[in-house]
Amino acid sequence: MKKIVQKFGGSSLNSAEKREMVVKHIEKAIKMGYKPVVVVSAMGRLGEPYATDTLIEVASEINKGIDNREKDLLMSCGEIISTIVLVQTLKKAGIEAIALTGAQAGIYTDDSFGEAEIIRVVPDKVNKTLKEGKIPVIAGFQGITEDGEITTLGRGGSDTTASIIAAAIGALYIEIYTDVAGVMTADPALVESARILDVVTYNEVCELAYQGARVIHPRAAEIAMKERIPIKIKSTFNDGPGTLINSNGMRKIKGDRPVTGVTSRRNIVFIKIIPENPVEYATGLLVFSLLAENDISVDFINIRSEATSFIIDSKNREKVDAILQEHNFNYKIRDDFVKVSVVGGGMTGRPGVMAKIVEALNKEKIKIYQTTDSHTTISCLVKREKEKEALNALHSIFELNL
Ligand code: ASP
Ligand code: MG
Repeated sequence: MKKIVQKFGGSSLNSAEKREMVVKHIEKAIKMGYKPVVVVSAMGRLGEPYATDTLIEVASEINKGIDNREKDLLMSCGEIISTIVLVQTLKKAGIEAIALTGAQAGIYTDDSFGEAEIIRVVPDKVNKTLKEGKIPVIAGFQGITEDGEITTLGRGGSDTTASIIAAAIGALYIEIYTDVAGVMTADPALVESARILDVVTYNEVCELAYQGARVIHPRAAEIAMKERIPIKIKSTFNDGPGTLINSNGMRKIKGDRPVTGVTSRRNIVFIKIIPENPVEYATGLLVFSLLAENDISVDFINIRSEATSFIIDSKNREKVDAILQEHNFNYKIRDDFVKVSVVGGGMTGRPGVMAKIVEALNKEKIKIYQTTDSHTTISCLVKREKEKEALNALHSIFELNL
């Protein structure tokens, strides 16, 4: 049986016309001889009736402090509604289908509500449905604990459901249908000449996602990488080829493409701590252990005897501010920075990438406050007002528009 997984995002399901297009993609797969398993997200965005953020708002209007267990139970409803709506649309088109919750699809997790880890998948019902010639339509983003509690997998977690189900049933590939035509060299809202990439590696797509690009949940790409299942990212609204994510092509990529894409993260806060005694590193040591105790991760760390600086995710701003105040650190918090990153599997061991970055930013008189790098990514901290200019300069120096 040639099984595949087709996942449809919330912006592909929030109108009757769009759902007709979704049905066309499922029909096409069936005609080509595949057995599709469908995974869906909650319909639409904040303000639309069944979107995840709308559901959260419904409860927080009554009680701001809803507990995580009930919040998960509430959020899981959005995806369940999608399954039922899509099943009715499929049946109208003459395709037999069955709606399944994450629990019914056999996705077992731990009890970390809001960010649950998948422990095991028992896809018996999914496989049985396929054998009966019906299409399983599974609610993404959710699972169940061994003792029956409903959990969610973290925001954007429907992609994770698609990958984990694909792994469990031995799918040939995963298709992620969305409102963009594929993975792009940059955010087209900021870089006009951004292009769709025809092939990227799992690592590259994970890095792009970590560094701010909203293409696919990195966890979904990691699972697919481990299981060697190719992913195709495509638009629901046309028949374009989209982007293929796999680990082949790497040699070819290395040869002709040091950089794959540029991206940026705005949701960061820059913190600088000035120690009482400038020759001691004790301040840095203390602050990092305090943050670790509070489960706060730091990035862009720079420890010098006269100052320790780093960035945190802006969701932790208040918490970190309180910790630093409580311990009487002499510090500054700034919100006017952005992390701009250049990503490419082909840059590993290749000289001159950093030189080009500095050249491009210098030419535009964009000051670099700090840098970090890994095998596949180089990031620079720049002023937020320079974000667009920086992305465009980097995009063109690496000829990503060609
Ligand atoms: N509906 C969930 C969210 O908004 C999961 C997803 O869309 O992937 O985060
Ligand atoms: Mg999503």
